[in-house]
Amino acid sequence: TIDLDNPCYLYAGNDAEFNGLVAEMSRGEVGAVFFLNSNPAYDFMNVKAFTDALAKVPAKISFSDRADETASLCDAIAINHNYLESWGDANAYEGYYSIVQPTINPVFNSRQAEESLLVWADAPVKDYYQFVRSNWETKMLPALGLKWNDVLEKGVVAVTPKTAAAYSFTQSVVEVAGKIVSASKALAKGGDQIELQVYENIPMRDGKNANNAFLQELPDPVSKVTWDNYVALAPKHAEKLKIKEFDVVTVKGSNGYSVDLPVLIQPGQSQGTASIALGYGRTKVGKAGNDVGKNAFPFVTFVNGTMQYATNVTITPTGGYYELAQTQTHHSFEGRAVIKEATFKEYLKDASAGNHKGEHKDYDLWDQYEKPGNNWVMAIDLNACTGCGSCIVACNVENNIPV
Ligand code: SF4
Repeated sequence: TIDLDNPCYLYAGNDAEFNGLVAEMSRGEVGAVFFLNSNPAYDFMNVKAFTDALAKVPAKISFSDRADETASLCDAIAINHNYLESWGDANAYEGYYSIVQPTINPVFNSRQAEESLLVWADAPVKDYYQFVRSNWETKMLPALGLKWNDVLEKGVVAVTPKTAAAYSFTQSVVEVAGKIVSASKALAKGGDQIELQVYENIPMRDGKNANNAFLQELPDPVSKVTWDNYVALAPKHAEKLKIKEFDVVTVKGSNGYSVDLPVLIQPGQSQGTASIALGYGRTKVGKAGNDVGKNAFPFVTFVNGTMQYATNVTITPTGGYYELAQTQTHHSFEGRAVIKEATFKEYLKDASAGNHKGEHKDYDLWDQYEKPGNNWVMAIDLNACTGCGSCIVACNVENNIPV
């Protein structure tokens, strides 16, 4: 069911409006610009257009916690609190209102961005906690019959959902399907043109936390590659292109942007397509994240009012070779069967029938040692695991794995 009257407000950014802002900045129509949780000098598709436009803005302020790609071009950096140090509120879904409460005192000499805005605007209430509280106490809580402490305790209040109105789809489904097919055909041009998909991977997402070495160390849940991005190609496709694993190739987009990256042979990658993870190739994030991999954001295009993450590219071998660090390689079963199987008759004879009996090679980083008393194990339900990688990071931290 699609409920248009009770929508989700997450990812509500507007690509067209941002492009409009860059155009206004380049025409000299913007007097001041503030950057909060954003870094377009790294992740905008046309960094040069953005930085040229930014140079025409008289007042440029960043709330970043470091002199990142955008903040380093600003006139001032007003360091924002970490989210764990912040007050706030949110309306992620229609009808659900929540409170953001700090869990620690500010560690560094920072100030919450919202409070900076209140101070600069010379607002009557400058303390952001007081501002949030008074907003709730005057506009929300009386109608709900609740007190501030009730919201602090529960963290969220839900109001009655809006009644869903009746909507009808007036467009021709055949026409819409035709548009999708022709857009897809335009990407699969054939010849030397290859469809490239750029995507956010699990560890790095948009690259905001690229300086967190634990995330660089966290392997991609499918390819198991750490500390790099790469061009993933299907085995047969790579064979056709005469490209081997870890060969370095130049990927060139129709806008002229190109990067040199190693190839990873990725079973499951669609034939005739390639993919590159976003979030790499930062230059001003810090010593762990700088110059790790290459930036794929400039391959993004702007079509029909939105950013498109698939485009056409050419792929040419450079003759170079670069071995990626993988914690596991594809098809390495260590002698285990893909599916354990046994007949019912065999099972009746031996309840462990079908299970491997230590015939695969065991690896151990440590010398054998006595294990008196309880032996603890961690069991993971692989049917429930989403591959988020949090357990890997937690294990690395707990065991002081250097990263
Ligand atoms: S076991 Fe849990 S924490 Fe680990 S990757 Fe799977 S879902 Fe994430």
